Amino acid sequence: MRGYITIPESIECRTCKHCGSRPVISLAGKDEYVLKCPVDDNHCQTQGGMIDIEDWNMQNIPLAEPEPEAANMVACYDSKLNYTFFLPV
Ligand SMILES: [Zn+2]
Repeated sequence: MRGYITIPESIECRTCKHCGSRPVISLAGKDEYVLKCPVDDNHCQTQGGMIDIEDWNMQNIPLAEPEPEAANMVACYDSKLNYTFFLPV
């Protein structure tokens, strides 16, 4: 039997960084599960074994996720790579 288990909304996990889908749990072998993108196996999947949402989340850090509190901050750095952050007025 080939099927996927969807992850309940109550469980917080990232969406696929390629297409934004919520991952599904798929049986990968005897007692082995992978978390994977339902759209494309090549997008992302965790290693077989335990259901590892942590691993999925690590792999699917969005490429350009703005830091919520720093969204309007501007970062500058000088020749010595000292960073300065400031809020544009
Ligand atoms: Zn995907």
